[in-house]
Amino acid sequence: MFIGIDDTDSERGLCTTYLAAVLMERLRPLGQMASLPKLIRLNPCARYKTRGNAAIAIELVSDRTEEVRATALEAVLELSDFSGMNTNPGLVIAPRQTPQMTAFYQRAVTQILEIKEAKRLLDKEGIWYRGFKKGRGLIGALAAIGAALPDYTYELIAYRERARWGTQRRIDAASVWEADALTYPSTWDTVDHHNSRVVFAPHSADPVLFGIRGSDPLAILEALQIIKSEPIERSVLYQTNQGTDAHILEGVVADVRDSESYRLHGLVAESPQAIAGGHLFFLLQNGTSQINCAAFEPTKNFRDTVKQLISGDELEVYGSVQDGTLNLEKINILHLADDVEMSAPFCPQCQKRMESAGKGQGYRCRRCKTHADDRVRRLLARKLETGYYEVPPCARRHLSKPLVRMSKEKTHCSR
Ligand code: ATP
Repeated sequence: MFIGIDDTDSERGLCTTYLAAVLMERLRPLGQMASLPKLIRLNPCARYKTRGNAAIAIELVSDRTEEVRATALEAVLELSDFSGMNTNPGLVIAPRQTPQMTAFYQRAVTQILEIKEAKRLLDKEGIWYRGFKKGRGLIGALAAIGAALPDYTYELIAYRERARWGTQRRIDAASVWEADALTYPSTWDTVDHHNSRVVFAPHSADPVLFGIRGSDPLAILEALQIIKSEPIERSVLYQTNQGTDAHILEGVVADVRDSESYRLHGLVAESPQAIAGGHLFFLLQNGTSQINCAAFEPTKNFRDTVKQLISGDELEVYGSVQDGTLNLEKINILHLADDVEMSAPFCPQCQKRMESAGKGQGYRCRRCKTHADDRVRRLLARKLETGYYEVPPCARRHLSKPLVRMSKEKTHCSR
Protein backbone atom coordinates (compact mmCIF):
# COMPACT_ATOMS: atom_id res chain seq x y z
CA MET A 1 0.00 0.00 0.00
CA PHE A 2 1.01 3.60 -0.55
CA ILE A 3 0.86 6.12 2.31
CA GLY A 4 0.84 9.82 1.37
CA ILE A 5 1.20 12.63 3.91
CA ASP A 6 1.30 16.42 3.56
CA ASP A 7 0.75 19.76 5.27
CA THR A 8 1.45 18.78 8.86
CA ASP A 9 3.96 21.47 9.82
CA SER A 10 3.95 25.25 10.32
CA GLU A 11 6.55 28.02 10.37
CA ARG A 12 6.76 27.45 14.10
CA GLY A 13 7.91 23.88 13.95
CA LEU A 14 7.67 20.20 13.01
CA CYS A 15 8.18 18.83 9.51
CA THR A 16 6.21 16.39 7.36
CA THR A 17 9.40 14.48 6.55
CA TYR A 18 10.08 14.01 10.27
CA LEU A 19 6.57 12.71 10.82
CA ALA A 20 7.16 10.23 7.98
CA ALA A 21 10.51 9.18 9.47
CA VAL A 22 8.87 8.41 12.84
CA LEU A 23 5.96 6.68 11.11
CA MET A 24 8.30 4.42 9.14
CA GLU A 25 9.83 3.21 12.38
CA ARG A 26 6.39 2.51 13.87
CA LEU A 27 5.31 0.64 10.72
CA ARG A 28 8.26 -1.74 10.85
CA PRO A 29 6.40 -4.45 12.83
CA LEU A 30 3.46 -4.21 10.41
CA GLY A 31 5.19 -4.82 7.07
CA GLN A 32 8.13 -4.37 4.75
CA MET A 33 9.16 -1.10 3.06
CA ALA A 34 8.96 -1.90 -0.67
CA SER A 35 11.16 1.00 -1.76
CA LEU A 36 12.86 4.10 -0.46
CA PRO A 37 10.39 6.68 0.85
CA LYS A 38 9.69 9.46 -1.66
CA LEU A 39 10.26 13.14 -0.90
CA ILE A 40 8.15 14.91 -3.50
CA ARG A 41 8.31 18.63 -4.16
CA LEU A 42 5.21 20.14 -5.77
CA ASN A 43 4.54 23.42 -7.58
CA PRO A 44 6.95 25.93 -5.99
CA CYS A 45 4.38 28.69 -6.68
CA ALA A 46 1.69 27.05 -4.49
CA ARG A 47 0.30 29.76 -2.25
CA TYR A 48 -0.08 27.96 1.05
CA LYS A 49 3.30 26.26 1.25
CA THR A 50 5.24 26.58 4.50
CA ARG A 51 8.68 26.36 2.92
CA GLY A 52 9.53 24.05 0.06
CA ASN A 53 6.14 22.49 -0.77
CA ALA A 54 7.19 18.97 0.12
CA ALA A 55 5.00 15.88 0.52
CA ILE A 56 5.94 12.30 1.40
CA ALA A 57 4.95 8.87 0.06
CA ILE A 58 5.84 5.55 1.71
CA GLU A 59 5.39 2.20 -0.05
CA LEU A 60 4.67 -0.64 2.36
CA VAL A 61 3.99 -4.33 1.77
CA SER A 62 1.50 -5.35 4.45
CA ASP A 63 -1.85 -7.10 4.78
CA ARG A 64 -2.58 -5.46 8.14
CA THR A 65 -4.46 -2.58 6.58
CA GLU A 66 -6.47 -1.56 9.64
CA GLU A 67 -3.41 -1.42 11.88
CA VAL A 68 -1.44 0.55 9.28
CA ARG A 69 -4.27 3.10 9.00
CA ALA A 70 -4.53 3.42 12.80
CA THR A 71 -0.74 3.82 13.18
CA ALA A 72 -0.54 6.45 10.44
CA LEU A 73 -3.52 8.36 11.86
CA GLU A 74 -2.01 8.35 15.32
CA ALA A 75 1.32 9.71 13.97
CA VAL A 76 -0.47 12.50 12.05
CA LEU A 77 -2.48 13.46 15.14
CA GLU A 78 0.59 13.41 17.36
CA LEU A 79 3.14 15.09 15.09
CA SER A 80 1.16 17.80 13.26
CA ASP A 81 1.00 21.43 14.35
CA PHE A 82 -2.79 21.77 14.29
CA SER A 83 -2.52 25.30 15.67
CA GLY A 84 -0.71 26.52 12.51
CA MET A 85 -2.91 28.98 10.58
CA ASN A 86 -2.10 27.27 7.30
CA THR A 87 -1.65 23.72 8.56
CA ASN A 88 -4.31 21.50 6.99
CA PRO A 89 -3.04 17.92 7.18
CA GLY A 90 -3.88 15.25 4.63
CA LEU A 91 -3.34 11.48 4.92
CA VAL A 92 -4.05 9.13 2.01
CA ILE A 93 -3.60 5.33 2.00
CA ALA A 94 -4.06 3.75 -1.41
CA PRO A 95 -3.72 0.10 -2.42
CA ARG A 96 -1.93 1.00 -5.65
CA GLN A 97 -0.61 3.82 -7.80
CA THR A 98 -2.88 4.40 -10.80
CA PRO A 99 -2.30 6.39 -14.04
CA GLN A 100 -4.95 8.88 -12.82
CA MET A 101 -2.88 9.54 -9.69
CA THR A 102 0.25 9.99 -11.77
CA ALA A 103 -1.59 12.49 -13.97
CA PHE A 104 -2.69 14.27 -10.78
CA TYR A 105 0.97 14.47 -9.65
CA GLN A 106 1.97 15.92 -13.04
CA ARG A 107 -0.58 18.68 -12.55
CA ALA A 108 0.33 19.24 -8.89
CA VAL A 109 3.98 19.84 -9.75
CA THR A 110 3.21 22.25 -12.60
CA GLN A 111 -0.17 23.90 -11.88
CA ILE A 112 -2.31 25.18 -8.99
CA LEU A 113 -5.01 22.71 -7.93
CA GLU A 114 -8.03 22.86 -5.66
CA ILE A 115 -8.79 20.63 -2.67
CA LYS A 116 -11.99 19.44 -4.31
CA GLU A 117 -10.03 18.02 -7.27
CA ALA A 118 -8.07 15.78 -4.89
CA LYS A 119 -11.24 14.71 -3.08
CA ARG A 120 -13.01 13.98 -6.37
CA LEU A 121 -10.25 11.61 -7.51
CA LEU A 122 -9.96 9.97 -4.07
CA ASP A 123 -13.73 9.34 -3.96
CA LYS A 124 -13.84 8.16 -7.57
CA GLU A 125 -11.10 5.61 -6.94
CA GLY A 126 -12.55 4.61 -3.54
CA ILE A 127 -9.33 5.43 -1.71
CA TRP A 128 -9.12 5.71 2.10
CA TYR A 129 -8.20 9.22 3.26
CA ARG A 130 -8.46 11.63 6.16
CA GLY A 131 -8.27 15.40 5.78
CA PHE A 132 -7.96 17.65 8.85
CA LYS A 133 -9.18 21.24 9.12
CA LYS A 134 -9.44 22.38 5.45
CA GLY A 135 -7.78 19.15 4.31
CA ARG A 136 -5.55 20.96 1.82
CA GLY A 137 -2.80 18.44 2.52
CA LEU A 138 -4.84 15.88 0.52
CA ILE A 139 -3.53 17.55 -2.66
CA GLY A 140 0.09 16.87 -1.75
CA ALA A 141 -0.57 13.49 -0.11
CA LEU A 142 -2.33 12.15 -3.23
CA ALA A 143 0.22 13.73 -5.60
CA ALA A 144 3.14 12.19 -3.68
CA ILE A 145 1.62 8.71 -4.08
CA GLY A 146 1.06 9.36 -7.79
CA ALA A 147 4.58 10.66 -8.42
CA ALA A 148 6.26 8.77 -11.26
CA LEU A 149 9.94 9.59 -11.28
CA PRO A 150 11.46 9.09 -14.73
CA ASP A 151 14.31 11.19 -13.36
CA TYR A 152 15.23 11.35 -9.68
CA THR A 153 17.94 12.18 -7.15
CA TYR A 154 18.43 11.34 -3.48
CA GLU A 155 18.46 13.31 -0.26
CA LEU A 156 19.50 12.04 3.14
CA ILE A 157 17.87 14.05 5.90
CA ALA A 158 19.36 13.92 9.39
CA TYR A 159 17.03 14.87 12.26
CA ARG A 160 17.81 16.50 15.60
CA GLU A 161 17.17 15.19 19.07
CA ARG A 162 13.89 16.59 20.33
CA ALA A 163 15.49 18.45 23.25
CA ARG A 164 17.50 20.56 20.78
CA TRP A 165 14.61 21.67 18.55
CA GLY A 166 14.53 25.46 18.39
CA THR A 167 18.16 25.84 19.52
CA GLN A 168 21.11 26.75 17.30
CA ARG A 169 22.36 23.82 15.23
CA ARG A 170 25.83 22.56 16.07
CA ILE A 171 27.55 21.51 12.87
CA ASP A 172 31.31 21.58 12.32
CA ALA A 173 31.60 23.72 9.16
CA ALA A 174 35.12 22.48 8.30
CA SER A 175 33.86 18.89 8.15
CA VAL A 176 31.06 19.95 5.78
CA TRP A 177 33.58 21.57 3.42
CA GLU A 178 35.65 18.40 3.59
CA ALA A 179 32.62 16.24 2.79
CA ASP A 180 31.92 18.46 -0.23
CA ALA A 181 35.53 18.27 -1.41
CA LEU A 182 35.50 14.46 -1.23
CA THR A 183 32.05 13.70 -2.66
CA TYR A 184 31.18 16.48 -5.17
CA PRO A 185 29.88 16.07 -7.92
CA SER A 186 28.08 12.94 -6.64
CA THR A 187 26.69 15.25 -3.93
CA TRP A 188 25.86 18.92 -4.44
CA ASP A 189 24.45 22.00 -2.73
CA THR A 190 26.09 21.15 0.59
CA VAL A 191 28.18 24.34 0.51
CA ASP A 192 28.32 27.43 -1.70
CA HIS A 193 31.94 28.10 -2.64
CA HIS A 194 31.45 31.48 -4.28
CA ASN A 195 29.41 32.85 -1.39
CA SER A 196 31.47 31.02 1.29
CA ARG A 197 28.45 29.44 2.97
CA VAL A 198 27.29 26.10 4.29
CA VAL A 199 23.84 25.77 2.70
CA PHE A 200 22.63 22.26 3.59
CA ALA A 201 21.11 23.12 7.00
CA PRO A 202 17.98 25.16 7.69
CA HIS A 203 17.87 27.91 10.32
CA SER A 204 14.27 27.33 11.40
CA ALA A 205 12.96 25.63 14.55
CA ASP A 206 12.05 22.37 12.78
CA PRO A 207 13.56 18.93 13.51
CA VAL A 208 15.81 18.86 10.41
CA LEU A 209 19.53 19.03 11.21
CA PHE A 210 20.73 18.95 7.59
CA GLY A 211 20.10 17.34 4.20
CA ILE A 212 22.70 15.86 1.87
CA ARG A 213 21.66 15.82 -1.80
CA GLY A 214 23.18 13.76 -4.52
CA SER A 215 23.00 11.24 -7.33
CA ASP A 216 24.70 8.34 -5.53
CA PRO A 217 23.56 6.96 -2.13
CA LEU A 218 27.09 5.70 -1.39
CA ALA A 219 28.61 9.16 -1.87
CA ILE A 220 25.85 10.62 0.32
CA LEU A 221 26.63 8.10 3.08
CA GLU A 222 30.35 8.87 2.71
CA ALA A 223 29.58 12.58 3.21
CA LEU A 224 27.46 11.71 6.26
CA GLN A 225 30.40 9.83 7.81
CA ILE A 226 32.67 12.85 7.34
CA ILE A 227 30.33 15.49 8.77
CA LYS A 228 30.73 16.18 12.47
CA SER A 229 27.71 17.56 14.30
CA GLU A 230 25.47 17.37 17.35
CA PRO A 231 23.93 13.89 17.83
CA ILE A 232 21.63 12.72 15.04
CA GLU A 233 18.37 11.29 16.37
CA ARG A 234 17.62 9.47 13.11
CA SER A 235 18.30 9.83 9.41
CA VAL A 236 16.36 8.78 6.32
CA LEU A 237 17.45 8.42 2.70
CA TYR A 238 14.70 9.62 0.34
CA GLN A 239 14.29 9.20 -3.39
CA THR A 240 13.14 12.56 -4.69
CA ASN A 241 12.12 14.64 -7.68
CA GLN A 242 14.43 17.42 -6.41
CA GLY A 243 16.98 18.62 -8.94
CA THR A 244 15.05 17.31 -11.95
CA ASP A 245 13.21 20.37 -13.34
CA ALA A 246 9.93 18.43 -12.90
CA HIS A 247 8.15 21.78 -12.49
CA ILE A 248 9.35 23.20 -15.83
CA LEU A 249 6.88 23.30 -18.74
CA GLU A 250 7.91 23.93 -22.33
CA GLY A 251 6.33 27.30 -23.02
CA VAL A 252 6.15 30.24 -25.38
CA VAL A 253 6.35 33.84 -24.16
CA ALA A 254 2.88 34.73 -25.47
CA ASP A 255 1.09 32.01 -23.50
CA VAL A 256 2.65 31.95 -20.02
CA ARG A 257 0.42 31.85 -16.95
CA ASP A 258 1.14 33.06 -13.45
CA SER A 259 2.12 30.44 -10.82
CA GLU A 260 3.63 28.13 -13.42
CA SER A 261 7.27 27.49 -14.36
CA TYR A 262 8.68 27.41 -17.87
CA ARG A 263 11.52 27.11 -20.29
CA LEU A 264 11.08 29.99 -22.74
CA HIS A 265 13.00 30.93 -25.86
CA GLY A 266 13.59 34.49 -27.03
CA LEU A 267 15.88 37.43 -27.64
CA VAL A 268 16.96 39.95 -25.04
CA ALA A 269 14.95 43.04 -26.02
CA GLU A 270 16.67 45.52 -23.72
CA SER A 271 19.86 45.34 -21.68
CA PRO A 272 19.26 44.44 -18.00
CA GLN A 273 18.39 47.26 -15.62
CA ALA A 274 19.10 47.22 -11.89
CA ILE A 275 16.68 48.63 -9.33
CA ALA A 276 17.17 49.52 -5.67
CA GLY A 277 17.93 46.46 -3.57
CA GLY A 278 20.16 44.96 -6.26
CA HIS A 279 17.41 43.26 -8.29
CA LEU A 280 18.02 42.97 -12.05
CA PHE A 281 15.41 42.89 -14.80
CA PHE A 282 15.44 42.47 -18.57
CA LEU A 283 12.82 41.96 -21.26
CA LEU A 284 12.80 38.75 -23.26
CA GLN A 285 11.07 38.97 -26.62
CA ASN A 286 9.63 36.30 -28.87
CA GLY A 287 7.78 37.60 -31.94
CA THR A 288 5.59 40.42 -30.69
CA SER A 289 5.37 39.11 -27.11
CA GLN A 290 7.62 40.11 -24.25
CA ILE A 291 8.14 38.96 -20.68
CA ASN A 292 10.01 40.59 -17.84
CA CYS A 293 12.76 38.33 -16.45
CA ALA A 294 14.24 38.89 -12.98
CA ALA A 295 17.44 37.96 -11.20
CA PHE A 296 16.66 39.01 -7.64
CA GLU A 297 19.28 40.04 -5.09
CA PRO A 298 19.40 36.61 -3.37
CA THR A 299 20.68 35.10 -6.65
CA LYS A 300 23.99 36.85 -5.80
CA ASN A 301 26.77 36.24 -8.37
CA PHE A 302 24.30 34.93 -10.99
CA ARG A 303 23.48 38.63 -11.47
CA ASP A 304 27.04 39.25 -12.71
CA THR A 305 26.23 36.98 -15.65
CA VAL A 306 22.80 38.45 -16.28
CA LYS A 307 24.21 41.98 -16.13
CA GLN A 308 26.36 41.24 -19.18
CA LEU A 309 23.48 40.30 -21.47
CA ILE A 310 22.76 42.78 -24.25
CA SER A 311 19.95 43.39 -26.66
CA GLY A 312 19.84 40.68 -29.32
CA ASP A 313 21.31 37.83 -27.25
CA GLU A 314 19.40 34.62 -27.95
CA LEU A 315 18.45 32.72 -24.80
CA GLU A 316 16.42 30.02 -23.16
CA VAL A 317 15.30 31.10 -19.70
CA TYR A 318 14.08 28.76 -16.92
CA GLY A 319 11.96 29.91 -13.99
CA SER A 320 8.58 30.48 -12.36
CA VAL A 321 6.20 33.23 -13.41
CA GLN A 322 4.77 35.29 -10.60
CA ASP A 323 2.94 38.60 -11.13
CA GLY A 324 3.89 38.46 -14.80
CA THR A 325 7.64 38.27 -14.11
CA LEU A 326 9.78 35.18 -14.65
CA ASN A 327 12.12 34.56 -11.71
CA LEU A 328 15.27 33.16 -13.30
CA GLU A 329 16.64 29.81 -12.10
CA LYS A 330 18.99 29.34 -15.04
CA ILE A 331 19.63 30.57 -18.58
CA ASN A 332 21.03 28.91 -21.67
CA ILE A 333 22.78 31.42 -23.93
CA LEU A 334 22.34 30.12 -27.47
CA HIS A 335 23.86 33.01 -29.39
CA LEU A 336 25.69 36.16 -28.34
CA ALA A 337 24.86 39.35 -30.26
CA ASP A 338 27.68 41.60 -31.49
CA ASP A 339 28.45 44.32 -28.98
CA VAL A 340 29.15 47.27 -31.23
CA GLU A 341 30.53 50.68 -30.30
CA MET A 342 30.36 53.53 -32.85
CA SER A 343 33.21 55.99 -32.45
CA ALA A 344 35.18 58.67 -34.28
CA PRO A 345 37.52 57.18 -36.94
CA PHE A 346 41.32 57.18 -36.73
CA CYS A 347 43.39 59.45 -38.98
CA PRO A 348 44.85 57.34 -41.82
CA GLN A 349 48.16 59.25 -41.54
CA CYS A 350 48.95 59.79 -37.84
CA GLN A 351 46.65 56.98 -36.53
CA LYS A 352 45.26 59.31 -33.83
CA ARG A 353 41.51 59.55 -33.26
CA MET A 354 39.90 62.27 -35.43
CA GLU A 355 37.64 64.95 -33.99
CA SER A 356 34.22 66.16 -35.06
CA ALA A 357 34.27 68.68 -37.87
CA GLY A 358 30.93 70.13 -36.71
CA LYS A 359 27.37 68.87 -36.68
CA GLY A 360 26.71 66.72 -39.77
CA GLN A 361 30.13 67.54 -41.22
CA GLY A 362 32.02 64.35 -40.43
CA TYR A 363 35.42 64.07 -38.77
CA ARG A 364 38.82 65.69 -39.33
CA CYS A 365 42.43 65.59 -38.23
CA ARG A 366 43.61 69.18 -37.84
CA ARG A 367 47.27 68.27 -38.03
CA CYS A 368 47.19 66.07 -41.16
CA LYS A 369 44.20 67.85 -42.75
CA THR A 370 42.45 64.55 -43.38
CA HIS A 371 38.70 64.10 -43.39
CA ALA A 372 36.21 61.21 -42.91
CA ASP A 373 32.43 61.23 -43.34
CA ASP A 374 31.26 58.58 -40.83
CA ARG A 375 31.91 57.08 -37.44
CA VAL A 376 33.48 53.61 -37.40
CA ARG A 377 32.00 50.42 -35.99
CA ARG A 378 34.09 48.77 -33.29
CA LEU A 379 33.34 45.26 -32.04
CA LEU A 380 33.72 44.99 -28.27
CA ALA A 381 34.80 41.71 -26.70
CA ARG A 382 32.00 39.83 -24.87
CA LYS A 383 32.93 38.40 -21.49
CA LEU A 384 30.20 35.76 -21.66
CA GLU A 385 30.27 32.46 -23.49
CA THR A 386 27.33 30.52 -24.83
CA GLY A 387 25.92 27.71 -22.66
CA TYR A 388 24.08 27.29 -19.38
CA TYR A 389 24.48 29.54 -16.33
CA GLU A 390 22.65 28.95 -13.03
CA VAL A 391 21.93 30.60 -9.68
CA PRO A 392 24.41 29.63 -6.92
CA PRO A 393 23.60 26.88 -4.38
CA CYS A 394 22.48 29.45 -1.77
CA ALA A 395 19.64 30.49 -4.10
CA ARG A 396 18.76 27.07 -5.55
CA ARG A 397 15.15 26.00 -5.71
CA HIS A 398 14.54 22.41 -4.61
CA LEU A 399 13.18 21.30 -7.99
CA SER A 400 15.73 23.11 -10.17
CA LYS A 401 18.06 20.79 -12.01
CA PRO A 402 21.60 21.85 -11.10
CA LEU A 403 24.04 22.10 -14.00
CA VAL A 404 26.24 19.49 -12.36
CA ARG A 405 23.53 17.03 -13.50
CA MET A 406 23.71 18.26 -17.12
CA SER A 407 27.15 16.99 -18.04
CA LYS A 408 26.33 16.53 -21.74
CA GLU A 409 25.61 20.24 -22.18
CA LYS A 410 27.93 23.23 -22.26
CA THR A 411 27.62 24.33 -18.65
CA HIS A 412 29.04 26.98 -16.34
CA CYS A 413 28.33 25.33 -12.97
CA SER A 414 27.94 27.56 -9.96
CA ARG A 415 29.18 25.99 -6.75
P1 ATP B 1 7.53 21.73 4.36
O1 ATP B 1 8.38 21.84 3.14
O2 ATP B 1 8.13 22.36 5.55
O3 ATP B 1 7.03 20.34 4.62
P2 ATP B 1 5.66 22.83 2.75
O4 ATP B 1 6.31 24.01 2.15
O5 ATP B 1 5.67 21.51 2.09
O6 ATP B 1 6.22 22.60 4.15
P3 ATP B 1 2.93 22.46 3.31
O7 ATP B 1 2.76 22.69 4.76
O8 ATP B 1 3.03 21.05 2.82
O9 ATP B 1 4.17 23.31 2.88
O10 ATP B 1 1.78 23.21 2.54
C1 ATP B 1 1.63 23.17 1.14
C2 ATP B 1 0.16 23.00 0.84
O11 ATP B 1 -0.09 23.26 -0.53
C3 ATP B 1 -0.30 21.59 1.11
O12 ATP B 1 -1.59 21.65 1.67
C4 ATP B 1 -0.39 20.97 -0.27
O13 ATP B 1 -1.34 19.94 -0.37
C5 ATP B 1 -0.77 22.16 -1.10
N1 ATP B 1 -0.34 22.04 -2.48
C6 ATP B 1 0.73 21.38 -2.96
N2 ATP B 1 0.79 21.48 -4.29
C7 ATP B 1 -0.25 22.23 -4.67
C8 ATP B 1 -0.74 22.67 -5.93
N3 ATP B 1 -0.11 22.37 -7.05
N4 ATP B 1 -1.86 23.41 -5.95
C9 ATP B 1 -2.49 23.72 -4.80
N5 ATP B 1 -2.08 23.34 -3.59
C10 ATP B 1 -0.98 22.60 -3.51
